[in-house]
This record gives sequence, structure tokens and C-alpha cells, in this order.
Amino acid sequence: MQPISERPATQHTTLKEQGAAAADPQQMADQASAQAEHISAKQQVVVIGAGVIGLVTACRLQQQGHPVLLLDGKGIGQGCSFGNAGHLATEQIFPLADPALLPKLPGFLLDPLGPLAIRPRYFFKALPFFVRFINQMRPSRRNANTLALKQLLQGAIPAWQQLVADAGCSDLLKCEGSLLVFEQTDFAEVEQVALAYAGQGVALEILDQQQLQSRYPGLAATVRYAIWFKEVGQTLSPHLLNQALFQWFKHMGGRFLPQNVEKISTSHGLCVHLATQAISTEQLVVCAGVHSKMLVEQLGYKLPIEAERGYHLMTKPATTPSLPVASYERKMIMTPMQEGLRLAGTVEFAGTTLADNWQRAQRLRLHGDALWPALATAGADIKANSTPTAATSDTTRPADCWSGMRPTLPDSLPVISGCEVPGLWFHLGHQHLGLTMAASSTRLLLQLMANQPGAAALAAPFCLQRFS
Ligand SMILES: Cc1cc2nc3c(=O)[nH]c(=O)nc-3n(C[C@H](O)[C@H](O)[C@H](O)COP(=O)(O)OP(=O)(O)OC[C@H]3O[C@@H](n4cnc5c(N)ncnc54)[C@H](O)[C@@H]3O)c2cc1C
Repeated sequence: MQPISERPATQHTTLKEQGAAAADPQQMADQASAQAEHISAKQQVVVIGAGVIGLVTACRLQQQGHPVLLLDGKGIGQGCSFGNAGHLATEQIFPLADPALLPKLPGFLLDPLGPLAIRPRYFFKALPFFVRFINQMRPSRRNANTLALKQLLQGAIPAWQQLVADAGCSDLLKCEGSLLVFEQTDFAEVEQVALAYAGQGVALEILDQQQLQSRYPGLAATVRYAIWFKEVGQTLSPHLLNQALFQWFKHMGGRFLPQNVEKISTSHGLCVHLATQAISTEQLVVCAGVHSKMLVEQLGYKLPIEAERGYHLMTKPATTPSLPVASYERKMIMTPMQEGLRLAGTVEFAGTTLADNWQRAQRLRLHGDALWPALATAGADIKANSTPTAATSDTTRPADCWSGMRPTLPDSLPVISGCEVPGLWFHLGHQHLGLTMAASSTRLLLQLMANQPGAAALAAPFCLQRFS
């Protein structure tokens, strides 16, 4: 086995320069699968990105006996995986491209603090994504994408349970369900929503106001109905979970270098270029979330990934709900965590470089107060219990607020894929469900890397070449 070697950075040609890009996505996927050099025992692997996707990938590969080097200039779990809502949302099997969104869009877009916003300066840059996104609303695409998502979500909780048991941090995972609450929506619509989920095999029960008040007395009396998703889960802290996985990775002998990859070259074997050195490797997995675009496009592939920015606000009320509570109308979620009650959500298209709009995070507080009245008296404690984060460099950030960029592709499916370059793999684009899908998606990637029977067919909907 050739060890991971370190050598001065050199210039290499891109895949595009080598003329490797073919026209037909399906043909490219088949070709990539046939050409991929699958991983063999104890081969070295470099993993780019230490978000939850990169961490789980690195842990599982290291556990299989491959020496793994994990790279991330921001440190461990400091991107989108730092402050998410912690919800293992296995009920969310429907792709984001929902035709029901279209009539609501103008209303959403007129309110810069509403559930969905596009920053005016970013509008034209976001247009190509929206054209592709609307195309994915066609029934044939929506059905195919639902099936593919379902494949990853159905095994997501057992895969996490196995992972946290292996990593020795089962205490950070809880599976007691979650609520989707309704305030103004009439019962016929609640029933329709429930039927759509139940039709996809999601275990649920509709609760009325009386049942809600007796089971969850802290919930506002304005909540008239809720769907209780019985088999979903949550982590008690995404941050602590990332740290626990990292400790396990190190304990197994994994190596971490706090540096960013500037370029991947492929012409003289696989090589990652850092600021001051280049590292050759036999296998390479790109897990850089929304920032994967630059690395992937340098190689000559298209990656129409968008940053769906979301916000959280940490609070510390005297009582918290015992399970995650999402609001159908307000499009936000409250999750009880070790650090307090996290209010999270909203979608903003503002690219990766425009400054955050912290008013969007603070608006979450109004929604929280309305759904969980104990919050209204929790003001004094909030800042003292806020989550310290290096996730954003914006000095105007209020101490209790955070923002993150969900890595989203127009079809809502992640990329779990090899390519024409032997040993080069991609694991990215898990949209609103990166925490939920991390363990099941990694399992599929490892099956693909090991060339297990049936893996190529299971991973076909997630191939990188679908955008070419
Ligand atoms: C408000 C909010 C709430 C959410 N709630 C949930 C939820 O309840 N449940 C759920 O399942 N999901 C949720 N999500 C989505 C989830 O957080 C993401 O899908 C997930 O974190 C993506 O993980 P990732 O590892 O792909 O990306 P990231 O966590 O962003 O990690 C990518 C890493 O790559 C590193 N990187 C980038 N470029 C380079 C480079 N060139 N070299 C080296 N490293 C690099 C970055 O520094 C970063 O650490 C939420 C997201 C938001 C914003």
C-alpha cells in the first residue's frame, strides 16, 4: 500500500481539459460505475469537509480499516452542521420542488422576513436554479425523486442508532417522534396532509386540541391540530454529536488537518492541493457541503447547488416541549436540546457571500412565543445560554443567533457518486436533511465504493452526472 504522500503543489489539467465529459448523463453514470476503481482493503482515503456528512464518512471508512485523513480549514462541524435543528426528520420524504409552492411564492417573496426570501441582489443569480427547480415539479420527476429520498430516509434512524452505538454516544439520540402543528388550517387540509404522509408509509396520528393540551400542556391553546410523527427522532445537540464522532474518529486512528483544499488534480493520480502542500491519495471523497461547487466544477462537472440559508435562535424557557415541534403555517421548528430550546428554520437565497440578515433569526422568536408561551418570559436567560460559534465571521451576529447554508440541488437529492476518475467520490448536497440522512447516505456510499452487488443501481438517482 502506498502511503499518503505529501509533495509541493503542482499544476495539473482538469477532467474537462482531458475531454472526459460525455453528453448523456445515464451513459456517463454507467461509464463512471464501470470505470470506478473500487476501494480495496486498507486503502488510504482523504475526506474533504468535516461537516456531519464528512465526519460520518470518515468514521465509517476508518472503522473499516482504511487510514483516513480528514481536511477542513474551519475545524470540526463548523459549517451548516453546527446549528441545525437536530431533527431526524424521516417523515420528510417529499422533495422541496412542490407545485403547491407556486401560488404561495408571491406572498412569501413580498415579505423579506417571511419563510422564503430571495435577496434582491441575488435574484438573477438564483434564476437558473429556480428554472431547474420548477422543472422538478413535474409529476414524473417528483415521483421519482420521492422514491429516491424515501430509500435514504427509511433506513436513516436504524443507521444512526447503529452509528451512535458504535461511537459510544447513544445518549445524544432520542426517538420519541415529533409534532407538526396547525393553528389556522382547517381539519380537511390537516387530514389531507396526514393522508399524503401516511400514503408513503409514514407512521402518524392526528391529535386534536384536547389531546394536545393533555399531552403537551405548554403548547399554546391556539394550536388546534397536530400530526404526531411517531417514528422520527432528534439529537440533543448537533454540535456535541459532531464532537463525539470526531473523538471516535481520532480514537480509531483517524487523522485531521485543519486546512482547506484549493484544488483537486487527477492527471498524475489523485492529488489534493492545500495552500502550502499537495497530498496524493488512492481514494478521495468530496464532502464540502455547499462549497463543493468550486471543487467539482474545477473538475469539469456541473453542480447546480444553491445555498439555502437558514437561521437559528437559542432560547432558555423554564419549560420546553419534550419533542421537536414544527409549524405548518409558520415554517419553523422548535427543538429541545441540551443547550436550551432551539428555534430554527426559514429559507433565504442570498448566495454564500452576502451578509446575514439577523432580523430573520430574530423573527423566529415571535413564532416561538406564539407556539410555546413559556418562551415569552424567558428573555433574561437567552444570551447567557446562547451557543458560542465560529460558524460565521460576521461580527454583527447577535450572541443567540446562528446561520447556516443548506447545500441544495434542484431535485432535492444528494450526490452519492463516483466518476470516471478512479478513486474519486462525491458525497454532498443533502439539503434540509443532511443530519437525518448522514448515516444511511454514508452506508450507500460505502457500498458503492466497495462495489457491492446492487449498490450501483441503488445509487443511480444520486449520480453526479445527472446534471451534465
Ligand atoms: C437552520 C437549519 C436547520 C436545519 N435543520 C436540520 C434538521 O433538523 N435535520 C436535518 O437533517 N438537517 C437540517 N439542516 C440541514 C443540515 O444541517 C445540512 O444538510 C447538513 O449540515 C449538511 O452537512 P454537510 O456536511 O454536507 O455540510 P457542512 O456542515 O456545511 O460541512 C461542509 C464542510 O466542508 C468544509 N469545506 C468547504 N470547503 C472546503 C474545502 N475546500 N476544503 C476543506 N473543507 C472544506 C466546510 O468548512 C464545512 O465544515 C438544517 C440546516 C439549517 C441551516
